[in-house]
Order: sequence, then structure tokens, then C-alpha cells
Amino acid sequence: MTASPLPVDPFDLVIFGGTGDLALRKLLPAMFHRFVDGQVPAASRIIGVAREGLDDAGYRSLVRDVLADGGGASDRIEAFLPLLRYLPLDARKDEGWEAFAALVDEQPEHIRVFYLSTSPELFVDICNRLGSHGLNGPNSRVVLEKPIGRDLASAMCIIEAVGRVFSETQTFRIDHYLGKETVQNLLALRFGNALFEPLWNAGHIDHVQITVAETLGLGRRAGYYDRAGALRDMVQNHMLQLLCMVAMEPPASLAPDAVRDEKLKVLHALKPVDMRNVAQLTVRGQYKAGAIDGERVPGYLEELDDGHSNTETFVALKAEIANWRWAGVPFYLRTGKRLATRLSEIVVAFKSVPHSIFDASAGPLAHNRLVLRLQPDEGVKLWLTIKHPGPGGLRLRHVPLDMSFAEAFGVQQPDAYERLLLDVVRGNPTLFMRRDEVEAAWRWIDPILAAWGAAGEPPRPYAAGSWGPSAAVALIERDGRTWNEDSE
Ligand code: NAP
Repeated sequence: MTASPLPVDPFDLVIFGGTGDLALRKLLPAMFHRFVDGQVPAASRIIGVAREGLDDAGYRSLVRDVLADGGGASDRIEAFLPLLRYLPLDARKDEGWEAFAALVDEQPEHIRVFYLSTSPELFVDICNRLGSHGLNGPNSRVVLEKPIGRDLASAMCIIEAVGRVFSETQTFRIDHYLGKETVQNLLALRFGNALFEPLWNAGHIDHVQITVAETLGLGRRAGYYDRAGALRDMVQNHMLQLLCMVAMEPPASLAPDAVRDEKLKVLHALKPVDMRNVAQLTVRGQYKAGAIDGERVPGYLEELDDGHSNTETFVALKAEIANWRWAGVPFYLRTGKRLATRLSEIVVAFKSVPHSIFDASAGPLAHNRLVLRLQPDEGVKLWLTIKHPGPGGLRLRHVPLDMSFAEAFGVQQPDAYERLLLDVVRGNPTLFMRRDEVEAAWRWIDPILAAWGAAGEPPRPYAAGSWGPSAAVALIERDGRTWNEDSE
């Protein structure tokens, strides 16, 4: 049985970039699902904004098709569509903003969420114009999509410019990984069970692995991606946030700043990776042509217009946290495009037993591992050693205590954006990045980028459909460990 979600008060959600990929694929379906679940009151408004010259009817028709393709029931879709409005507006031009402000002001009591689902180059223009039209009052909130900058300096420019219009409590920097059920479950597992926390330290944990593997290539985001690369696109935000959730000290409560203070301490305690050690601790890769699910797929350079790039589509690195809890425990991170399978997971590998009482015929003793799967099929597995059932002597087997959330709870897990969008409406920033977290993450990433730039080496090639360059395997095997391969 699932508890019914609590409805929120009617609100206005303005989506700048309302016709874009993120809006149509994630944000509007998320709102639709919350509406169907009774959480979004019918008096709420969702206002799409983009340059395209649509009207309300045209926008509703566009969204109707998207939701129908996603399997939405037509009576529910028809009930949802009247919430939608559309206003054509160019964020860089002054025209149209009076009409926009008048539309928003029709509901002065509503909480106003301005979701900037556009290229980050527009963030400052949009915020300035919202401010100059008086739309940054106490009931307004702004949501910033990643990437916030491409290095510390550019991130600071955006953060400070937005900060001149919206206060920190009004600013929600979204990292949708933090809205995933499994990530929140990490909090429940760590701090809701007496079992794990006493073992959650360098005395008992051998190492941690975080993998975010995609099978997709560039698709339609080629321009953005080629300027960013895997380190900026995935590690600076999602993967460091996951690392923080694993490594942080127990916060005193779930109050937003209690959690974020602890995450920030982890970021500050990361050992620097720079010119001196970047070659030992990081691997950059770029995919060549290969095959995924039996289909030939092109290489990265073939997907680019000009066919030249030194951008990495894969990165593996070994991070260490210099504090009492984690001293000497490596955190291996790897992420890439066009890898063998789509998989995001955190693996906490415990140390071996100190002494084996079993003889060789029992088989090898394996590490206990706690595997938190973020996608696909969110769930948690705890790998334990047991005796193989039946006669034949004491033979050991390594088996998972397996909890797939879909199987255990019989429901499809809500998309992360569903949870996070309503957290913004409620004004709960716990699962959003505070300004100092974004800055600290860039402060750790910048020297890696600088060291790569100074070394000037091209990324190592890997075949699409593989697990990245062989150097990424060597990175972990040098330490006598292997990447987790229990992907069933
Ligand atoms: P997109 O498909 O290119 O959409 C961009 C949207 O912005 C369109 O609606 C576009 O419509 C509008 N737009 C562009 N210039 C504008 C202007 N001057 N004034 C007003 N509207 C303008 O991009 P996206 O993939 O949705 O990504 C949006 C943001 O989310 C980016 O920051 C991206 O990095 C981030 N993000 C995306 C994803 C994803 O899965 N797509 C995931 C994580 C983060 P018009 O051209 O009609 O104006």
C-alpha cells in the first residue's frame, strides 16, 4: 500500500524553455503524474515560455501528444490541459515582458516557480528581467538547471548575478539525481538502521564505486556536450553529489542546511587532484564506432559536424576523502556515453573477513557489497555469503538480499522531477545544491581540467559498447580491485 501524497496549494509553474526537450520529456510529464495523483490543484497554472509563436491551444496540443505518447489516459490528459498556458517571449529582448508580467500577476497569491529550462547563457538575462518586472517577491522561486558554469569563475558569475535578484532561499539549483528514490533510500538505509552506520567507515569499508553509464551517444545535445565533456557534465554535479551522500557524517536532522552542511564538508575534504597526480588518478576516454545491442553505432567524431574534438565522453577517477572516517578508502568514479549498458549504481564494498575458517573446497570468500541501483530498476542489493543449500559439503555461495522497489512495492517509482518540482513548490531545498556546494565542487574540478589542459593529451579511444578504455580497468585493478560486474 502506498500513502496518498499530500496536495499543495495552487501554484504557478513558469517553464522558460517550455517547448524544449527537458520540459516535454521530463517536467510536463512529472507535473501530469502529480496531477493524476491528486497533488496538483486544478487552480494551478503551468505557463510555457519560448520564442516559438504558439498560443495556449497550440501548446496544449503539443503537450497532449507528448503525454499520449507516454501512455497517459486521455480523460486525465484532457483534465490536465486547461492548467497549461503559453506565452511567446525572447528572453534576450524586452518586448513581451509586460504581457508576461501581467499574466503572472493574474494570480498574486500563488507561489511562483520560475524554472529556467534553457541554455545557461540565458539565466542571467531571464533573472534580471524577472527582477525588473517585480517578479522576484517573497512568493517567487527560481530553479536553475545544470550546468551552472563551465568552471569556478563562470559559475560564480552566474551565481552572483542570479543572487542579485533572488535570495539564496529562493534559489533552487536542481540535481535530479538527488530526487531519485535510491538516493533518498541511502539516507533511510544509513540513518534508519542501526546495522550500517557502525560499519560505515575506513575500518570496515574497503572501497566505494560510483558508476553512471549511458548507452546513448550525443544525440541532439552535441553542441553543448562537446563544449562540456563528461567531467563537467556528470562528475562536477551528479557524481560528486552521490559521493557526498555516501560519505557525509550523519546530519543532526533532515533540515535543509543540516544535510547540506555535511555534504559541503565532504567536498572540502576531497584530496586535490592536479598536475602532480592527474595521470595516476584519472582516465579520459572518447568513443569510437562500435556496436550496442547488436547494432552498429558511430564514433563520437562521426557524430560531430566538423569531425574534430578532444572532448572526453568517458572519465574514470579515483578520489579520496581526507578525514577520519574515510582516510585510505578509495572512491572510484566512472561515467561515460556509449557504454555497454545503461546503469547507474553505487557499490559499497566491505572488507574481507579477517580470517577464513573454511577450506579450499568451500570456494572463495567474497566481499560483502551493498549495491544501490539508481537506474534502471531502482533497488538495493546486499550481497552476502551463505552455504550452498543441500548435501555436498560446506560450499559457499555469494547471493544478494534483493529489494527491487518496483517488485517490493508493486508501483512504478515516480520520476525524480516529480518529487523535486513539488519540493520547490513547498519551499524545501534539502535536495537542492546550495551555492557553496556548487562552488566547492568546481574548486575540486578546476585543477583536474587545468592539469588535463596542460598535459594536452588526447582522450583514450574506446569502442562503443565497451566499458571504456582499458586504462580505466587498470586504474582500479592496480589496487587489486575490480569494477562491479553483477549487473543482473
Ligand atoms: P532544448 O531542447 O534546446 O530547449 C531549449 C528551450 O529554450 C526551447 O524551448 C527553446 O525554444 C527555448 N529558448 C531558446 N532560446 C530562447 C530565448 N532566447 N528565449 C526564450 N526561450 C528560448 O534544451 P533542453 O535539452 O530542454 O535543456 C534545457 C536546459 O536543461 C539546459 O540548460 C540543459 O543543459 C539542461 N538539462 C537538460 C537535460 C535534458 O535531458 N534535456 C538534462 C539535464 C539538464 P525556442 O527556440 O522556441 O525559443
